[in-house]
Amino acid sequence: MSKSLGEVGQLIERLTALNRNLLRQFATEEGLQLVHVEILQYLTICNRYSDSTQAISEYLGQTKGSISQSIGHLENHDFIKKVQDKIDKRIFHISLSSRGEAVTERLLKKIDMGGSGEFEPVLKTMLTSIQKKNGLKGFNTCVSCKFNQNPKKNTFVCGLTNERLSPDDVKKICREHESH
Ligand code: SF4
Repeated sequence: MSKSLGEVGQLIERLTALNRNLLRQFATEEGLQLVHVEILQYLTICNRYSDSTQAISEYLGQTKGSISQSIGHLENHDFIKKVQDKIDKRIFHISLSSRGEAVTERLLKKIDMGGSGEFEPVLKTMLTSIQKKNGLKGFNTCVSCKFNQNPKKNTFVCGLTNERLSPDDVKKICREHESH
């Protein structure tokens, strides 16, 4: 039992290391640091409740101060845009500028982890299982969240905020996600 868990853990570690090495290589080619590319990549998959400096620092496991510095660099070089929240003025929503989008499009073409679609259900199940076992929550796909309601076909509502979610919204990851 512990042997097979160890082997799975080693495989995850190797895949993670491989992904980070490829990302680092790409970042160097773009004149950026690894963390800059990680932030840009994250912004392509997060939803509107998860596009703040706080959420990015939680997702990447880095301090808010260090992520703020990287965000400042990306903003100064026109890779991202920041817009103040209409209700909570302390929050700024971060999104990709056209320059940032161009980088992430090049990234998608450059890094091919091969056959990921075929393994997606297994990887999602593993992620949920690891999160549950370790008492972690958040940053999973909206459609699988226990708060996600779909009263009519393709008319989704977030049960936590009571806001409408589009079919595209529910494919994104959310820091408030909780599994069933
Ligand atoms: S349904 Fe869950 S994952 Fe989706 S936006 Fe609401 S809290 Fe986030």
